Amino acid sequence: MEDIIIIGAGTAGLTAAIYGQRAGLSCRIFEKSAPGGQIVNSPSIENYPGKFGVSGYDYSMALFEQAQKLGAKVEFAEVTGIDFSGAEKKVITSAGEFSAKAVIIANGAARRKIGCKGEDEFEGRGVSYCATCDGNFFRGKTVAVVGGGESAFEETEYLAEICDKVYLIHRRDVFTAAKTAVDSVLKKKNVTVLTNSVIEEIKGASAVSSIILKNRANGSTAEIPLSAVFVAIGLKPENEIYKGVLKLDDYGYFDAQEDCTTDIGGVFVAGDTRKKALRQLVTAASDGAAAATAAANYIRKNF
Ligand SMILES: Cc1cc2nc3c(=O)[nH]c(=O)nc-3n(C[C@H](O)[C@H](O)[C@H](O)COP(=O)(O)OP(=O)(O)OC[C@H]3O[C@@H](n4cnc5c(N)ncnc54)[C@H](O)[C@@H]3O)c2cc1C
Repeated sequence: MEDIIIIGAGTAGLTAAIYGQRAGLSCRIFEKSAPGGQIVNSPSIENYPGKFGVSGYDYSMALFEQAQKLGAKVEFAEVTGIDFSGAEKKVITSAGEFSAKAVIIANGAARRKIGCKGEDEFEGRGVSYCATCDGNFFRGKTVAVVGGGESAFEETEYLAEICDKVYLIHRRDVFTAAKTAVDSVLKKKNVTVLTNSVIEEIKGASAVSSIILKNRANGSTAEIPLSAVFVAIGLKPENEIYKGVLKLDDYGYFDAQEDCTTDIGGVFVAGDTRKKALRQLVTAASDGAAAATAAANYIRKNF
């Protein structure tokens, strides 16, 4: 039996492993994709203390190596089920069943999708969830950004610098982004803002070539030729397997304490997956440290 099982090798999970191993506890991390989590494809990080301008990939690999050098074990497998009913916590994965004295859930959050026809079909062929990752492929082209919040405006601002024309498509007529961000985008000559509008279909042959846009106010539809659709409508936690076991808020995030403890002794939650005001690398790292410290205290008292 392991001391701590950590679900997710993003910033929160890898930081938890660093703190767990340094507390003399054995940590096994499960990662269903690549180490680093959401940040791995980001071209540049400018707001992590002491890391100005580092790429998401270099940052992720350095963190991954640091956790491994301290002795953390990593399994590239998906966690598909859990049993937290006993003192020994069980985790079911695509590589088999594992148990530990404590579990830290650091599974982050996934990008929210529009859910329209063609979105899945053209993902990676004109449908993207990250302008800074994929924007350059559409240099000089016409693209659309979907959303009305901070990230939609940031992506529009970024794409307006490299693309010929940018449509900003929002389903409502009010924006949740800061006024300064909205004003700055509205001033751009190559940005057209389309409010009360939703994409009904993303069309193309081998790649995206147009969208069918519906005006929600009058029901009319129009086909707009373009090369890419950047979806920026927020994050979605993937916590279905924990429903009925751990407390979730209305949006599906873990409703846990600031010290990352939950209602179940020995189960902790860290990073973007929990209810919090700010989802960033620095807060994910902070959670990872807090969760591992709380797990170490729990293990000392209970085993
Ligand atoms: C494009 C982009 C740019 C960003 N830029 C910045 C920035 O410049 N500065 C900043 O501070 N923040 C930035 N962020 C936000 C930052 O990346 C997140 O706040 C941070 O990654 C959260 O870390 P986390 O460990 O909680 O979750 P994540 O990074 O989401 O990691 C969770 C990990 O868990 C894994 N996982 C999920 N479910 C399972 C499962 N069932 N089994 C096994 N593994 C699982 C996932 O594959 C993932 O690797 C950016 C985010 C994006 C998307």
